[in-house]
Amino acid sequence: MAEQPMLKFVKIERDMPEKREAGVRREDFHEIYAEYADAKAKEQASRCSQCGVPYCQSHCPLHNNIPDWLKLTAEGRLREAYEVSQATNTFPEICGRICPQDRLCEGNCVIEQSGHGTVTIGSVEKYITDTAWEEGWVMPITPKTERAESVGIIGAGPGGLAAADVLRRAGVQVTVYDRYDRAGGLLTYGIPGFKLEKDVVMRRNEQLEAGGVNFVLNCDVDADIFTSIRAEHDAVIIATGVYKSRDLSMPNGEAEGIEKAIDFLTASNRKSFGDEVADFDSGRLNAEGKRVVVIGGGDTAMDCVRTSIRQGATSVKCLYRRDRANMPGSQREVQNAEEEGVVFEWLSAPKGFTTEGDKVAGVMVQKMRLGAPDATGRQAPEVIEGADYVEEADLVIKALGFEPEDLPTLWDTDGLEVNRWGTIKAEYTTGKTALEGVYAVGDIVRGASLVVWAIRDGRDCADAILEQFNATTQVIAAE
Ligand SMILES: Cc1cc2nc3c(=O)[nH]c(=O)nc-3n(C[C@H](O)[C@H](O)[C@H](O)COP(=O)(O)OP(=O)(O)OC[C@H]3O[C@@H](n4cnc5c(N)ncnc54)[C@H](O)[C@@H]3O)c2cc1C
Ligand code: SF4
Repeated sequence: MAEQPMLKFVKIERDMPEKREAGVRREDFHEIYAEYADAKAKEQASRCSQCGVPYCQSHCPLHNNIPDWLKLTAEGRLREAYEVSQATNTFPEICGRICPQDRLCEGNCVIEQSGHGTVTIGSVEKYITDTAWEEGWVMPITPKTERAESVGIIGAGPGGLAAADVLRRAGVQVTVYDRYDRAGGLLTYGIPGFKLEKDVVMRRNEQLEAGGVNFVLNCDVDADIFTSIRAEHDAVIIATGVYKSRDLSMPNGEAEGIEKAIDFLTASNRKSFGDEVADFDSGRLNAEGKRVVVIGGGDTAMDCVRTSIRQGATSVKCLYRRDRANMPGSQREVQNAEEEGVVFEWLSAPKGFTTEGDKVAGVMVQKMRLGAPDATGRQAPEVIEGADYVEEADLVIKALGFEPEDLPTLWDTDGLEVNRWGTIKAEYTTGKTALEGVYAVGDIVRGASLVVWAIRDGRDCADAILEQFNATTQVIAAE
């Protein structure tokens, strides 16, 4: 009788792809995990218990058919695994790399809950689609018919690009506008290469362009351009993300050497592309030879500390006002950062900065403890009196989160409704806004969120627009 290919979690231990040694990986911006060898991917996929109610699938925002593509991988039917995987996810190899799997699919894997260690879903997902690219299974976008309708998408991040992909495959004329010179949004200029190498993003941009998506880059959409985009297209999708950095209002907060995380990360990513970046070359946004303090405990802070290490900082410290268990960033990323030499100062909050002349010289830190839980059950940090100290620093990076820009004012559109956080009010599952023919997806609707949610929104919104168009079909060229 043929051997049962699945349920091997009892015999086979969880095994991630090899992680590069910390001393080696801190020298470059390459990804830190190697690819699975074929046999290893098969073996790890075979650990799946194929449970009747796959919680991994229900906790994946895209409801990926995970048990099926794991089984196909275990059986060596990789091309079919790829077909199933890409049916629900526009960028599986990107999600496989950067989804916080511990909070989504893998965190809800049933064998994890029985103490056997989760199936390495993200790594297998990445392996399947990387292999598909290598083998030439990722096909160009070739719509069966061309349609007359056109959609203008403002913002070339994962939300906008996922919508572009679905619409273009259906033959819609798609134009994506972005203020940057390269598409990809935060995949390109926010997230560092050690989590997501840039050629992985660029080949997707090229695939979309080759498939007929028209990109208008270096186009910062303002009120006039928004009006003309609306006039030009049958529907418009706003996918502009959230870029206004939260700030600290405290003594000497304007001193030289105190920088925003997004500026620091964008400069670093641009250098990795080989671009000239004046603020990096001048040393302003370069951590080399500096004592760096990063303020914040989210994923952006983790990316800043690890980027600083790679740029050759002499020391890197991360200040966070709660403790390790209560930080918003991924525990996996904290561990990676610690291995690379980052020091975390938990329960520490800034109250101002010391200076030498115009330049920052240190962060005035107050020590905190966690008080009683608030109405949400979260323990609020409280100051410990008399425990203040100064953390010396040459470069301070503020990674305190992002807020939306005020689009109704910037684009002079009274009818575009926003909620009290300034994010656009859009209908759940379609992205429809209060403005006729205008939709919105991704972070500009959700607030700072995740790539996988932006993809989900983009796909849902594209489906809703197609449904709308199909009510008045306008095919212009048959196959
Ligand atoms: C440093 C950092 C690390 C992150 N790490 C992770 C991670 O590991 N995993 C994860 O899942 N998520 C991560 N995220 C979150 C994730 O990147 C976002 O949730 C996701 O990119 C949102 O996609 P989006 O398409 O809505 O917007 P974005 O990716 O922000 O794209 C928006 C695009 O709109 C363009 N744009 C904005 N305004 C205009 C305008 N007026 N005119 C023209 N173009 C405009 C921008 O240039 C940009 O290209 C991270 C975020 C940051 C900042
Ligand atoms: S898209 Fe993200 S959450 Fe869904 S299966 Fe892949 S890694 Fe898990």
